Amino acid sequence: MASEVQPATPIAITPDIAANLRRLRERVDAACRRAGRSPDGVAIVGISKGFPAGAVVAAWQAGLRDIGENRVQEAATKIAAATAQGARPRWHLVGHLQTNKVKTTLGLFDILHSVDSLHLAEAISRAAAKPVPVLLEVNVSGETSKYGLRPEEVEPALAQVRALPNVDVQGLMTVAPLVGNPEKVRPVFRRLRDLARSLGLPQLSMGMSDDFAVAVEEGATMIRIGRAIFGPRLDLLEEKRPQTE
Ligand SMILES: *Cc1c(COP(=O)(O)O)cnc(C)c1O
Repeated sequence: MASEVQPATPIAITPDIAANLRRLRERVDAACRRAGRSPDGVAIVGISKGFPAGAVVAAWQAGLRDIGENRVQEAATKIAAATAQGARPRWHLVGHLQTNKVKTTLGLFDILHSVDSLHLAEAISRAAAKPVPVLLEVNVSGETSKYGLRPEEVEPALAQVRALPNVDVQGLMTVAPLVGNPEKVRPVFRRLRDLARSLGLPQLSMGMSDDFAVAVEEGATMIRIGRAIFGPRLDLLEEKRPQTE
């Protein structure tokens, strides 16, 4: 029968996203209670890569106000479509950015989490008309597959980035190694927090679907959550490789 072959619509995923977000908020609240923190100090950034604009609209309607993407090209079409459907979140770039995409990026995103070199910060400052909120990405674990400054590079880089007119460094960001037990990455989060504190930087972007509770306990102010909000991604194998944009 024709009624059985209708394609899935965004409406079909709406209830799951709202329920996922409710469960996630409860878990964030619990982690905040354990750490004696207020949940107001933790922004949930929903990472919608691999999902259509309809998923962003559903998350927006469920009350999510921050959305992140890791690729400029995928984000460009999605942001246009989500905006046309009434979703107006703050847009966060969380993936590696090539300097030749800086101009496009500045027109799309409100904050860039993944500034991983002085060279990139300089390109952003040159292209921007006013100070751009950014975080410096730190490769705390030293994995060669990861982007980011080494921890010991952050202080000298920060001094130079702070001198740029159109870059506003608000904090640090890291992607922790993939491990089975999130307790194993607690030292990574702790190191990023100590580094940010010693440099007087208030924002800490750390923690993903599998390890956000530990990150919140260690002081995360922004957690970047994909699967726990939007569900499993089909592109998981592909994204283990370093991103090229
Ligand atoms: C995909 C991605 C996330 C979200 O990952 P999940 O495990 O789906 O929560 C967070 N940060 C970055 C940089 C990502 O690329």
